[in-house]
Amino acid sequence: MDFLRPTTWEEALAAKADRPGSVPIQGGTDVMVEINFDVRRPPALLDLTRVAELREWSMTGGLCRVGAGVPYAAVIGELAGPLPGLAQAARTVGSPQIRNRGTVGGNLGAASPAGDSHPPLLAAGAVVEVESRERGVRMIPAAEFYLGVKRSALEPDELIRAVHVPPATGPQYFSKVGTRNAMVIAVCSFALALHPRERRVGTGIGSAAPTPRRALEAEELLAAELDWEAPLDPALLRRFGELCARAAAPIDDVRGTAAYRVHAISVMARRTLTWAWNDHLKERAA
Ligand SMILES: Cc1cc2nc3c(=O)[nH]c(=O)nc-3n(C[C@H](O)[C@H](O)[C@H](O)COP(=O)(O)OP(=O)(O)OC[C@H]3O[C@@H](n4cnc5c(N)ncnc54)[C@H](O)[C@@H]3O)c2cc1C
Repeated sequence: MDFLRPTTWEEALAAKADRPGSVPIQGGTDVMVEINFDVRRPPALLDLTRVAELREWSMTGGLCRVGAGVPYAAVIGELAGPLPGLAQAARTVGSPQIRNRGTVGGNLGAASPAGDSHPPLLAAGAVVEVESRERGVRMIPAAEFYLGVKRSALEPDELIRAVHVPPATGPQYFSKVGTRNAMVIAVCSFALALHPRERRVGTGIGSAAPTPRRALEAEELLAAELDWEAPLDPALLRRFGELCARAAAPIDDVRGTAAYRVHAISVMARRTLTWAWNDHLKERAA
């Protein structure tokens, strides 16, 4: 197996264009598991760890641009202010070792329906920046990035360069059900982001469908019926939970049954909206 070691982004794009079968490796917390267990044996690994810019984040054009190689530990330590939903999700990933190595870019590259970054990226309205040497940059909204189980819109000659996330303008929450509190793949998960200026609520469902997805009908319900000045109407909250559950399309597997996941999504949807709404009303009263 060849080991390609570009030191600049241009070299990385050239390597991917010349060897589309090469597998990018950033933190390696997914790739190395697959190689160790012989799930795949690629002709070449494309090591991105020497491309320093991938580990940087910046505020650009009103958006937080998070380089594909920014590890979860940095999201937690440096980005919890502008990106509270993503930081909450990052705190639930693996162990300290995994959070030091593992990256949001790697989570996107793996495109697992259970990846913890995806629901908060969907709820916040993130856009994935990908690039190829031949066709240049493509900006792909997170909602269009996930195509199937571990399948994304990324073409074989493309690399993920960054993800652009609007900084929070209201409360955000992430909730995850697992069989224990740490080192656990989500049985299912849910993220919610209030966008008070747009009078809109964003959602993201994890591990309860072939891809991470938004609960669009539930979002439309709140956009039409939520009174942003008043306490939450219990009937509206219940209906929101039901519509979020209806947006899920889970399967029975070793981690949980489809029926349990549907139920858990409705509970997490109601809980996260209640938490966020309490914060919202407190902020208004302050
Ligand atoms: C013990 C353990 C616990 C874990 N716990 C969790 C958890 O709680 N939640 C969770 O979501 N995940 C978990 N994971 C999975 C993993 O840590 C995450 O998916 C992580 O985000 C992967 O990031 P990475 O940088 O290590 O990716 P890598 O392993 O380097 O890459 C992952 C995939 O993305 C591709 N890739 C990487 N960078 C790029 C790029 N720039 N452009 C294009 N493709 C790219 C790779 O080719 C590969 O297909 C766990 C893994 C382990 C081993």
